[in-house]
Amino acid sequence: MSGWTLGIETTAHTLSFGLVNPDGEPFPAASDTLRPDEGGIHPREAADHHKDVAAGLYQKVLDMHGLQPTDLGAVAYSQGPGLGPCLRVGASIARGIATRLNVPLIGVNHCVAHIEIGRQQCGCDDPVLLYVSGGNTQVIARLNGRYRVLGETLDIGIGNMLDKFARQQGIPFPGGPKIESLAKAYLERCPEPSMEGLELPYAVRGMDLAFSGLLTAAQRLVDNGQPLDAVCWSLQEHAFASCVEVAERAMAHTGKRELLLGGGVACNERMRSMSTMMAEDRDGSSHAPPKMYCIDNGTMIALLGALELANRTTSLEGSAIDQYLRTDQTPIQWA
Ligand code: AMP
Ligand code: MG
Repeated sequence: MSGWTLGIETTAHTLSFGLVNPDGEPFPAASDTLRPDEGGIHPREAADHHKDVAAGLYQKVLDMHGLQPTDLGAVAYSQGPGLGPCLRVGASIARGIATRLNVPLIGVNHCVAHIEIGRQQCGCDDPVLLYVSGGNTQVIARLNGRYRVLGETLDIGIGNMLDKFARQQGIPFPGGPKIESLAKAYLERCPEPSMEGLELPYAVRGMDLAFSGLLTAAQRLVDNGQPLDAVCWSLQEHAFASCVEVAERAMAHTGKRELLLGGGVACNERMRSMSTMMAEDRDGSSHAPPKMYCIDNGTMIALLGALELANRTTSLEGSAIDQYLRTDQTPIQWA
């Protein structure tokens, strides 16, 4: 391949431009995330935000790495899954840049991009993936040329659950990091905590997960006067243990020995340490990429685009977004 591959990520609240060099090596992205002062994310407001900051961020990522637009040899973008209005902005920016530079365009699967940046960064070969982000929660493993979803949330993503709980306490988006620091503060003031009075429902449903009951029950604990830091601790313990349990059964069932974390909630240190404990108990190993590659980022889109370019490109006619694109719809045609 000649030239750098640009990757454009716009599935939700983050617009991000990332790059891989002609050898497919990743370089840090330039990103901007919409953080509403109150309330959740309105897809059209996020799309407007992406339009407003796009030109400046595109220039920024080129400047960060000393590149000119003519150094680009291909343009990759998130084709799905995600919020329609946001995805459409990314796809039209990608079409515009690719057409102007006369270079190939390639639409890629956002979930698969999380997996591939993790494999590349952590040197994993054939992991079970625990993909825990705002909108998605899935346990995934590679089988017969596809990434198969072995278990997933039946309602909201784990990150959305954390963000909603935080919002109800007046904590702005993203709530996950603040919940993590409150949980840590609780352990500092109460080093040997007990679940008494802090029990929550368990989110496991067979191989699937469901988080909305946990959200309601955690709010009830707060309403009944339990301290917020204690509830944050319990919420993390219950939610993360549920995910790790499903991941453990996936490892047991498939015989795979590596666990790979991805998605924004994989930034969480408690999530990481629980995963490590579980994997080591099974004589396996747990891995997580650097935080900048856990959250949504353009670099992972560029990386997957570069991997896929050997086999396909996306025509303008075929470049429409797919809000409901599934992880297992993308054939794995790379090593
Ligand atoms: P993503 O959808 O992959 O971009 O990830 C965003 C989600 O990750 C949001 O729901 C955040 O609240 C969540 N998140 C980010 N950092 C942390 C953290 N340290 N602990 C828990 N959740 C986090
Ligand atoms: Mg994501």
